[in-house]
Parts: sequence; structure tokens; C-alpha cells
Amino acid sequence: MSRFCFICNKPLSKSEIVTVNLGMKTLINASIERGDEFTDYLKDQKSVKVHVECRKNYTRKSTIAAVKRKREEKQASASKVSPPRARTRLSESAFCLKSCCLFCGDQLNEEYEKKRAKKYRRRICKVSTLTFKESVLKVAQSRSDDTAKIVVARIGFEHDLVAAETRYHNDCYISFLKPTNGGKVGRPLDEALNLAMEKIFTYIENSNDDQFTLEELKNVCKNSNIDNRTIKRRLKLNYGDKVIITEKPGKSTLICLIDNHRDTLNQSRSEKQKSNGQEERFKILEDAAPIVGEDIQSVIINNSHYTPPGRIFENINGHILESQVYFIIKKTINGSI
Ligand SMILES: [Zn+2]
Ligand SMILES: [Zn+2]
Repeated sequence: MSRFCFICNKPLSKSEIVTVNLGMKTLINASIERGDEFTDYLKDQKSVKVHVECRKNYTRKSTIAAVKRKREEKQASASKVSPPRARTRLSESAFCLKSCCLFCGDQLNEEYEKKRAKKYRRRICKVSTLTFKESVLKVAQSRSDDTAKIVVARIGFEHDLVAAETRYHNDCYISFLKPTNGGKVGRPLDEALNLAMEKIFTYIENSNDDQFTLEELKNVCKNSNIDNRTIKRRLKLNYGDKVIITEKPGKSTLICLIDNHRDTLNQSRSEKQKSNGQEERFKILEDAAPIVGEDIQSVIINNSHYTPPGRIFENINGHILESQVYFIIKKTINGSI
């Protein structure tokens, strides 16, 4: 799970946080309505951690409405050259992106879906990102079957799928994403992505470097199916404002971890401190050893006769050296060492 709140991009350690499980749908809907780039990410997750305040703000109806209004104003000013009405009429004459599913071509009927039993109900989605068309075209290219050709024909002349209010069945979209060789792709693709990203994160966190190229990271995960955009988005979600992604046309994309180095340094430093404590203890013992040893060697022992076994414990303290008593009794028992 991400260590950063995807909404504000700040670490989750700051201020109150909440784990969203059942509310995922609300977040996804908010993302779709906002038309931001988090929809795909949220659909991948079973739960997310976010700040309580961020979630409230993100799903608040009035805030969403404001975002939508802003977007519509932007779109209106961008499409002055060809008024929306003319474009809608043009697409309606061929295929109605708004009322028919982009993928299967069937009429979309939300009222009808609502009346159906829950398990048969089909989710109807609206295209909310400008990159949707690009990714559909990419999938179509890799499929190159009849379905793909039809879909390409439907969206080929539509410049802006968001403005055309393009809609589709979610299950149709999911099966469109599946490769035509029949392999299951829905969940497994997500898992492959998660696995690949885990590899990348581990690589970054174990590296002494704090700068990587996108190609380098792609080589690490050995999964060529993951596009650059997804990697960059996941990096941002995982590292938040600790990661800086620099892109220059014609040059390789650079990924910089700002705090990576410092964190690693701190970590190795604290490890050193731990071992320092141990080292110091041995050093004291080592320093004391020659003194005690010297005293032991300096004792003159009368070896012309042996103490009879019965008298061995007589005057026992007299045989112990002053330094030994000091070292053992005073230092160890009083707890100085
Ligand atoms: Zn937040
Ligand atoms: Zn459909």
C-alpha cells in the first residue's frame, strides 16, 4: 500500500488517516466525475489509505461540481473551432458514442440496468480522461481483430472522447483489454503490475544511488507490457514529493529520489551506532585485561610445597589480587560495566 495520500501527495504519517475499503466505489466515482488520472489506479486497489480531510474534500459534491465546471469551461474554450453540437451530430450520424457502448455497440440503458438483479447488472462508464482514446488505440493495435477494427472506426474521427460523452459497459472494456488468445487478463495484469512495481521499489530502496533512468527501472522489472506512464504514476503514488521525474524530449527520463540518500545514510549510521555500543564494551575489557594479567603474573608463589586439600579454603581472600577484587566486585557488581 502506498505510503502517500494519493489525493494530496503528502506522507500518510502527517495528520489523521483512514483506510477506505467499502468506500472505494465512492472514491472511484469521484475520480471519474473529476476526470483526474486516479481512476485506473483506484480500480486496481482493494483499499487505499488517505487523509481523513483529503477524502472528505475529494468526495464532497460541491467541490466535484466546481472541478467539473472548471473543466467544462476549459473544454468549451478549447473547442471553439468546432462547436460541440456540430461534432456530436457528426458522430451521431455514424455511431452514437454517448448512447451506445463503444465496444459492443449495444444501446446503453442505465434505467434498465438499475432494474436488473445486482449480479446481472452491467456497469456503464463514461470516458473521463483524454488519454483513454490513446490507450484504446494501443490495445486495438495489439489485437488487430474485427472488434479492434470496429472500435478504431468508432473513435477514429472523434477527437475528444470526453467532450463526446463517450460511454461503454465496463465488462466490455475489460474483455476488450484481454488478449485475443483467450488468456485471462483482468486481475492477473494488475498482479503482474504490482509485482513489477514492487521489484522497482526494492531496487530503488536498496540502491546507493538516488538517480535512475526510466529504462533502467524498466529493465529491473523485466515486464515490457508496463507503459512509462503507469510506472511514473506508481512512483509518484509511492514516493510522493520525494520523487522528481524529469523529462526532456529526445533524452531519457530521469527519476530522482530526493531523500533516498539521506534516509539510507541515517539508516546505516544508526546501525553503526548499534555496533559501536558493543565495540566499546569489548574495548574496556581489553584495556582492563593487561592490568589484571600483569598483577596475576607479579604474584610470588611458593611452589616448594602444596597446600593440603583440607586447608585449601583457608585465608581465601588473601590470595585474590586487589585489581581482581576491584574489577570483579566493584565494577561488575556495582554495575559500572
Ligand atoms: Zn492527503
Ligand atoms: Zn458493451
